[in-house]
Amino acid sequence: MTDELLVDETRKLIIVDEEAQLVREVFDLYTESFWGVTKIAKHMNTKSTTKEGGKWDNKSVRNVLTNPTYAGYNHFKPADWPEEQRIIKPGKHQAIISKEQFEKAKSFRKRRAEGHMSRRSFDYPYSGVIKCGLCGATYTGNTAVHSGKKYQSYRCLNQYAKGTCTSPSISESILTALIWQHIEVVEDGFQKPKPKTTRLKINLEKELAISQKRRRNWMMALGDGKLSGDDYASLMDEEDARINKLRKEAEPEPEQQIPFEEVRKAFNGLKENWNDLDSETQKQVIQSLFRKITIKKSDDWHIVDMLTV
Ligand SMILES: [Zn+2]
Repeated sequence: MTDELLVDETRKLIIVDEEAQLVREVFDLYTESFWGVTKIAKHMNTKSTTKEGGKWDNKSVRNVLTNPTYAGYNHFKPADWPEEQRIIKPGKHQAIISKEQFEKAKSFRKRRAEGHMSRRSFDYPYSGVIKCGLCGATYTGNTAVHSGKKYQSYRCLNQYAKGTCTSPSISESILTALIWQHIEVVEDGFQKPKPKTTRLKINLEKELAISQKRRRNWMMALGDGKLSGDDYASLMDEEDARINKLRKEAEPEPEQQIPFEEVRKAFNGLKENWNDLDSETQKQVIQSLFRKITIKKSDDWHIVDMLTV
């Protein structure tokens, strides 16, 4: 249990106003303004100390964002249990923040931890999220300089690295306009993930068995001297790639979590200042809200599929 919730004689938790205010601010900055924990810590230090009287840092901000008590839960975990097995039950004390906001912070955290927020690609707010509607590959960021001015765009990985796709590149400004336009008109039902069929899973099992057999045969051929070491290695590489691709296809699409209405609300609040936001914040917004945006150009660019986190 935490210090800013004082336990009175009836064993109920009473919220200490001033500290509750700080907790709310940390959550709002994280889920509504899309700030990262470092930026939040810096900001909090300009106005307060932590509840223990220390300086805010990444860890203390994270501690606030992960504490279920603030959302009205009681929680408990034996010391030797892993964090994922923490027992969380509805409590009787007054919540400081809503359960929805707590869950939202949790999904943002998970998403950001998945590696899409890597520091080196902060320049590209959309990196990792945009997929090619022709071949399924990721669109990655690229910068060109014309008369001293920087132009950012995104291009299909298969198109520029392998030449196996013909999908054209798209400038960041066109992409932003395209996404906003889509958010305006999209209905909630439109972007629900399609359920993967169980048939696909059965096929994967079958393919894995076939693959095992192939690998055994090649190993025997290698042993018999019918196959060179190089040929064996490249056959195995190809087989690995093929199986990885099948595995990916068989993975069920993740459940959609953030309702579209909320994405729309977030964007309406940000639209006017979008170009004034630093690219790190832009990236936090995009990566916190979207799991996947598939784009395709026929006559004009359009969005084929849009999945929220
Ligand atoms: Zn492509």
